[in-house]
Amino acid sequence: MKITRITAHRVELPLVEGAYHWSGGKSVSVFDSTIVCVETDSGIVGYSEVCPLGPFYLPAYAEGVRAGLCELGPHLIGLDPRELGVLNHRMDAALKGHAYVKTGIDVACWDILGKATGLPVCTLMGGRFGESVRLYRAISQVAPDAMAANVASYRQQGYTRFQLKVGGDPDTDIVRIRAARSVLQPTDRLVADANTGWTQHEAMRVVRAVADLDVYIEQPCATYEECLAVRRNTTAPFVLDENIDGIDMLLRAKADLAMDVVNLKISKLGGLTKAKQARDLCVSMGIAMTLEDSWGGDITTAAIAHLAHSTPEAFRFTSTDFNSYVTVSNADGAPQRENGFMRASDEPGLGITPKWDVLGPCVLEVAKSK
Ligand SMILES: [Mg+2]
Repeated sequence: MKITRITAHRVELPLVEGAYHWSGGKSVSVFDSTIVCVETDSGIVGYSEVCPLGPFYLPAYAEGVRAGLCELGPHLIGLDPRELGVLNHRMDAALKGHAYVKTGIDVACWDILGKATGLPVCTLMGGRFGESVRLYRAISQVAPDAMAANVASYRQQGYTRFQLKVGGDPDTDIVRIRAARSVLQPTDRLVADANTGWTQHEAMRVVRAVADLDVYIEQPCATYEECLAVRRNTTAPFVLDENIDGIDMLLRAKADLAMDVVNLKISKLGGLTKAKQARDLCVSMGIAMTLEDSWGGDITTAAIAHLAHSTPEAFRFTSTDFNSYVTVSNADGAPQRENGFMRASDEPGLGITPKWDVLGPCVLEVAKSK
C-alpha cells in the first residue's frame, strides 16, 4: 500500500460558551481546525484533525499546519502508511520539529492501519482497558464565583474532574481555587492549571495559600526550573504540561521527581506513535497521565479516546471530550460523553466519517513526491 495524495480541509469550531479564557488574558472564541486526508492506492483513506489552541499556547498555529503539510507531504508520497515507524523516521528526517504538523499525517496513517486490518486503533495501541474513559472539564478563566458556578453546573452533567484555568492575578486565583473546591465533594478532583502564567514568587504564594485544600497544581510557571522550585516547596500533587514536549523532558522530569502526573497531548508530541511511546514509558515509570490534545472537534476526540482507552486505568488521570466544547460536529462516529465518561469506537481505525457538508473546500493538495 502506498500514499498517493494528501489533502486538507479547514473548518471553524465556535465555542459553546462563546469564548475560552486562560492565563495572561489569552482567549479563543472560534477555533481554526485542519482536517487531513491521506489517500492510498488501495482506496483506503485515513483522516485526522489538528487544532492548535490559538497561536500563543504551544509553538504551533493553525495556518502552520497547512504550510507544514505542503512542506512535508512531498516526502511521504509513495510510502506505506501502515509502516508507522518508517513513516515517522522519514518525517523527522524531512522536517525538523513541528510535531503538530506531523500529527496530521501520523494519526491519519493509524486510521489507515486500522481500516486495513479491520481493527480499532485502541486495539492496535495495546488493547482496551475497562469500559470507559473518565473525563475532566476545563473551566474557562472568569470571576471566581462564576467559575465555581460553572464547576457546579458541569458536575451536574456527570463530570468529577475539573481543571480550573488560573495563572492570572495570584490573589484572585487563590479565591478562584477556594471557591471551586467549596462546591465539590471529597471524591472529586480539582486541578489548578496556571498554564505558565505565574512568576515563581507568585506561584509560591498561591501554593502556600491553598495548602489546606485537596488541589493539584499544573504547570505554574513558564520554565521547567521554576516549576521544579515550586514543586519542591509544596505537598500538592503536581502536574507538568507545556514543558514536557518529548521523551528527553519526560525522562528528565522523572529523574528529578518533578511531577506526579504528566499531561500528554497528541499534537504536542507529534502524533499517536510518539504519544504511545511516551504513554508506555509513563506506565513503566509509574506516572499517571492526562491524555488529550491542544484542542479540536470530533476527529481529535476520537483519537484521544483510542489513546486513553488503551492505557491501563490506574495511569489514566483524565481525558477530554473536546467535541462537547464546540458547536460544530465535523464527523460521524465520534465518542459522545455519557455521564462524565466516553469510550473509543469499536469500528476499524478511528471509527469516524468526516461530515463533508460541514468541512470547507479542499485547501491544499500534495500528490507528487520530492
Ligand atoms: Mg495544562
